[in-house]
This record gives sequence, structure tokens and C-alpha cells, in this order.
Amino acid sequence: MTNLLPTIGLETHVQLNTRTKIWCGCKVEATAEPNTNVCPVCMGYPGSLPVLNKEAVRKTVQSGLLLGCTIAHRSKHDRKSYFYPDMPKNYQITQYDQPLCLGGGIEIEVEGTKRFIRINRIHLEEDVGKSTHLRGASGIDYNRAGTPLMEIVTEPDLHSADEAFAYLTALKQILQYGGVSNCNLELGNIRCDVNISVAPEGSDTLGTKAEIKNMNTFRGVHRALGYEIRRQTKALEEGTPLIQETRRWDDAQGSTSSMRTKEDAHDYRYFPCPDLAAVELEPEQIAAWEADLPELPAARRERFRVELGLPEYDAGVLVGDKELADYFEAVVASADGDAKAASNWVMTEVMRVLSESGDTPSDLNLTPESLGGLILLVTKKVVNRNKAKDVFDILIKEGGDPESIVKEKGWGQVSDSGAIEGFVKEAVESNPKAVEEYKSGRTAALQFLMGQVMRLSKGKADPKMVLELLKEMLA
Ligand SMILES: [Zn+2]
Repeated sequence: MTNLLPTIGLETHVQLNTRTKIWCGCKVEATAEPNTNVCPVCMGYPGSLPVLNKEAVRKTVQSGLLLGCTIAHRSKHDRKSYFYPDMPKNYQITQYDQPLCLGGGIEIEVEGTKRFIRINRIHLEEDVGKSTHLRGASGIDYNRAGTPLMEIVTEPDLHSADEAFAYLTALKQILQYGGVSNCNLELGNIRCDVNISVAPEGSDTLGTKAEIKNMNTFRGVHRALGYEIRRQTKALEEGTPLIQETRRWDDAQGSTSSMRTKEDAHDYRYFPCPDLAAVELEPEQIAAWEADLPELPAARRERFRVELGLPEYDAGVLVGDKELADYFEAVVASADGDAKAASNWVMTEVMRVLSESGDTPSDLNLTPESLGGLILLVTKKVVNRNKAKDVFDILIKEGGDPESIVKEKGWGQVSDSGAIEGFVKEAVESNPKAVEEYKSGRTAALQFLMGQVMRLSKGKADPKMVLELLKEMLA
């Protein structure tokens, strides 16, 4: 039998982080008491009229620009029949045949191989309420109803669970950079529907597809795809016919099961929403929104490498998390542009603290300004590197100003050659054995003597001066 190749397309729903809902002025707030951020519009009362939130349009257009899409100068909204208690209007307002963004795509990398995953379209629609099923009763919270959602649809360009995972990770990183969504998976800010089919490699037609709906973790998507690929491959190999259906992923069981087949698929009966005018965007408006865009991860990595002279690896690590990259850049600015020193501190000490505590950079007591200040104290030889680490530990615990801490603790570096000469002399005189060893060619003895001098200076001597004076005295 020829090789079987899975083909996967993703539809990703992303909640935009606008202040208010898409058609009304109700706040978008994940933590509010149920049904407190509601009004006649988002509750679907007869006679209420929607007014499109411009911020939602801007964020969708900016997402499209970040993903290389073509922005439609004219798009419109449509009603999609949807009869379910979490949608009080009994229709959802979405975009059918004239979405805001078309085309574009994302480059992904899996095991060293780069591939371009095309995006078909991005449209703007409203989210539904949230149902909670209790014992013997169900509750619905309409706070979420009317939250602006982008639906980002790929072409069927993905061929493995790993590629789907890489795509979602890259998408999340770009949207986070763009500041258009909080991308909080636990709060359901990103939800995914996947289409998956398997067919012999090189075949002109796709296999019979299954759709798995509403997954809200990337790991869940990865596992569900792995399961479906195995299930469909096995059926094809055994000659069991597959049917086109919607399947449900059960994360606890680690398997999918049939929800409904094509025969009872919904007839959505789309038609243009009579309550909303078409969205007309002037080229100047799109250009202004484009000018507003932040720098993307790939460009930032390149800038860190070329302009700041960081190694490729360091640039990749720092850029991987936007907040960390922002923190790093603020440290560089406060350290008079010393990117090398800033990356040393951030990549080792700061990242160690973050991984131990699970904090994000904004949780730290250590502000980028005080870390930058500490770096300058080392450069200006006000404090040596050893003592700087102690200052760092204090700044992590309680924050504060590095210079005052150095003064208060009396940790200022001793760079007075007279004082250091005294320590060197004392170390040499009280360690004749080490001096002998050094003179007979054992370089390790020099390290020992250096340690003795540093100890005598209570760790505060300028190590470079110590080394020079020590070598001079032993010569
Ligand atoms: Zn409302």
C-alpha cells in the first residue's frame, strides 16, 4: 500500500482584547459575576440595534496585516442561523462571503524543516454565552455573548499533529506580539476546530474528513489529531469506509467519538445582516493602522542579532516571550546600551529566578531600570561582579536602588592600589607554600592566592587589579 498522508485545516477562534463588546458598550471582563455585563443588545432583545465596535475592526485588520493578509476595502456582516440557548438572538452575526482579511500565512518550523502554511481568510464575528451544566440544571452566563472573535481559517496545508501544534504556537506568538488578544488559553481566548482527513500520498482528492470542534489547548489539538490520524489510517488500511462527520474530543479518555454526521449537518441559511452597514475602509485608514503595528518576533530576533550583536541562540530565547524581550530592551536602555552585559544577566540570573518562581518579568521586584543601574555600577567599577550578585539577590527580594544598597552594605569595590597591595602582600606572606608552587609552574596556585586576597578584602577588591598586583609581586 502507498503511504497515507494526513491533511489538516484549522479554524481558530481568537477573542480580541477590546475594552467593550462588538455591538454594544458592555465591558469584556472574564472575571465578572455571571450576567452582570449585559444589555438589551447583547441579550438580543427585540428592537435593539447593534453598532460595530471600531476597535474590533482595527485589531482584526492589524492581525491580518501581521499575518500578511490582503485587507478588504469593503466587507460586510451576515446572520447565521444558530438555535441554541447560549445565543439569545437565535442567529450569530458573522461574516460569510466578504470577510475583512484574505490570504496570508505563517512560516512554521518542525524538526528543522520550514514550511509556509497559507491562511484562507480572517473574519470578525461575535462570541456566544457560556453554558454551565450542573446536576439537574443548566446555567448560562451571557457576559461572554458579544465578545469580538476573529476566526482565522487555514488552507488544508498541514500534514501532521506536530505541524498543527507549531502553527498554533506561532500564531499565538504573533497575536500576542500584536497586542490584539490576551491569548489566555485557560480562559478560552483561543479555541480551535480542526478538519482532518487521510488519503494516499499523491492522490488528487482528499480523504473523507472529520471535524473536531472547540478544543482550547494546543496539547489537546495535538493529541486529538494524533488519535484521529491513527483511527482513519487504520480504517483505510482495513478497508472500512469512513463517513464525513463531526467528532467530539474527550481529553480524559484520549479519544474522539461521533457527534453528528453530514446528514444532520446544520443549514445555516446565511443572509446579509440588515442592521449593519458594510465596513468601508479607506486605504489611509489601513495604512495608519499598519504604521501602528509593533515589530514582529522574526524581525526583532534579527535586530537583536545584527544591531545588538547577540548570538542567534540568545536572540531566539529572549524574543520567544514578548514580555521578556521588552524587559531585556529596557535593561539595555538603562545600562547605556550594554546589550552583552544585559543579556548575560537576563539569560542567567533573571531567567533562573523566573523559572524557579513561575513569575513573569512584570511580577519582579527587580525593575529593568535597577538591573541596568547595577550593570553600570559593575562597568564603572563601583562594585565587582561577586558583590553585584549579592546586590541582585537583594533587589530580587525587596527591590530598591542598587547604588544605595552598595553604599549601605559597604560593598563598594576596593580599587585603591595601596589597599590592594596590602592585601596581596599579606596573602603572599602567609602562604609561602602556594607561592613556591606557583614559582615551580603550578598555575592553580595563583587562583588560590587570588581567593585569599579577595577574602582579605571581604570580596570587594577589583579582581583585575588583584591579579595584576599579584603577578607583579610574584615575578
Ligand atoms: Zn451589551
